[in-house]
Amino acid sequence: MQPDNLKSMKETILALWNKSTAMAPLLLGSLFVISNEVFAGDNRAAVRQEAEQWRAEHRIIDLHQHLDYQPELLERAIRVMDASGVGLGIDLTPGTVTSGPDGQPGEFEAHKKMEDSLFPGRWVQYMNLDYKDWDQPNFAQEAVQQVEKGYKLGAAGFKEWKRFGLFLRDGQGKLIHIDDPRLDPMWERLGQLNMPVSIHVADPKAFFEPYNDRNERWQELRDHKSWWFGDTNVYPGWKDLLEALNRVVGRHPHTTFVCVHFANNAEELDWVTDSLSRHPNMYVDLAARIPELGRHDPGKVHDMFVKFQDRILFGTDFQSLQSKMILGSSGSEPPPTDADAEVFFRKEYRWLETWDRDWAHMTPIQGQWNISSIGLPISVLRKIYFDNARKLLARSLPTPILHARRTTRDFVPDADPSRVLWQTAEPAIVDCASEDGLAVPDLSTTVRALWSRQFLYLRFDCPYTLLSTFDPKKQSGKRAYFDKEGASLWDRDVVEAFIGADPGNPKHYAELEVAPTNEGLDLMVTLPDKDLQWTSSFESAVQIDKKSKLWICEMRVPLASLATMPPQDGTLWRLNFYRCDAAHRASLAWRPTLQDTFHVPERFGILEFSE
Ligand SMILES: [Zn+2]
Repeated sequence: MQPDNLKSMKETILALWNKSTAMAPLLLGSLFVISNEVFAGDNRAAVRQEAEQWRAEHRIIDLHQHLDYQPELLERAIRVMDASGVGLGIDLTPGTVTSGPDGQPGEFEAHKKMEDSLFPGRWVQYMNLDYKDWDQPNFAQEAVQQVEKGYKLGAAGFKEWKRFGLFLRDGQGKLIHIDDPRLDPMWERLGQLNMPVSIHVADPKAFFEPYNDRNERWQELRDHKSWWFGDTNVYPGWKDLLEALNRVVGRHPHTTFVCVHFANNAEELDWVTDSLSRHPNMYVDLAARIPELGRHDPGKVHDMFVKFQDRILFGTDFQSLQSKMILGSSGSEPPPTDADAEVFFRKEYRWLETWDRDWAHMTPIQGQWNISSIGLPISVLRKIYFDNARKLLARSLPTPILHARRTTRDFVPDADPSRVLWQTAEPAIVDCASEDGLAVPDLSTTVRALWSRQFLYLRFDCPYTLLSTFDPKKQSGKRAYFDKEGASLWDRDVVEAFIGADPGNPKHYAELEVAPTNEGLDLMVTLPDKDLQWTSSFESAVQIDKKSKLWICEMRVPLASLATMPPQDGTLWRLNFYRCDAAHRASLAWRPTLQDTFHVPERFGILEFSE
């Protein structure tokens, strides 16, 4: 079958689907048997398998969590995240940066400190603003100062919740609105500091409709009377709140706004589509809105997710609080267990990954209806699950650690793909552009490290589409010309390791690189100087598998060339991996430097030697 025919057949299926929700399951049951055979791009089993692999590697990022900072509550959250494949959570409500009366660290600092010390690398924190001085004439400047302080304290972003327009009042008792000009300098500063804003205004549409048992969210409202905003004498209209936020997003095009809960309007896809189309700096998260999104025509939601695949982020509204655990929303029912939480996450994944129809959603209190899944392709899923968040948070993602595994068996590099020893070494994934953190999944490169008494071993597995090399390989000397554009080894395909063995001197590190021709190059860097006379005497081997389009490089570096003191179990070095691929014009990094050079040692990751 020709690809065009495949495409039109797929479109026919989707059209049929959209036409009749009642017929669709039957149609799918029969047509999907065919599709699994012929649509390489729409093989659901393969999609689910790939997503399971991401979860096994804990690659999922949950951009929307709320945690109270007590060890047992954090432990519970980690149990749930581990069971659900979530490697990193974004804690949106750690508190303000305001210091205590005697200069003690503020809520934000204490909260961050506990999360970072108990579970390093598992959360990043957004800051919250302190409004107590709202009525002071210099509040606009003070808000900017709070943001600057949060930035210095390591806040990854900024969260504002629905208090604007609904609760927060000035000294005269008047509601404060999200588009109040006093906040403009703060929104602007957040953009300059590259701190994304997660922002919540309004609430589900039903919360603004009459308070009675005909309200479709009656169960939720009955359990939470304070969530009802339908009294127009007290509260602005639902759309007025949403439009006020849109004005803020429009006024600050250089600030990234993640409008949470699917832009707070999962009820009206066209409105969200229109808003996203008008504002390139607007993003949305999925937190607690899959029940709402799942009620729409799944084909339409699918197409919208494909259209805005770069600006939709996975988030759940998972909350581990002192009062209880909350999964999206909750009411007077008994609090959920860890097992319930796992089911909740499973259902989130099911909605995004399958084409299942008409099934009970994950948050019954949010409404008594069933939902239908939207079967996204792999390329879109990985953006929503982690690539979009990694780019958004590139500045503040936790420093990655690669554990080099100890071996007693030295070997000469041969890049033999079947060498069993490597299977025991943990992978580092190099798949983001160094300059801005944008993922390039086609080139996703795996690097592993081993060490013995004498050597550090590195192995790079590099998928490629087209190799670009200098041929023939240079027989003597190093192909490195700092003043000649395009002539050095790194100007075509190459893998690189930057290794800093001296923690007291981070600007001092070795640079090793190898091309697919097995031409190598090494130098010692002591910024800003680069010493090409230095040699590590490293050896390397390359194998190219043209059939599966993979080139493998192994390096063996004498440890004595890198450090005066040999590493031991637990020794930490600084390390970054890079890959240049000319065909994709890609310069990838394990940890993106976020500059147009690889030589940013403060952005290196960590190599830990372990037994
Ligand atoms: Zn929330």
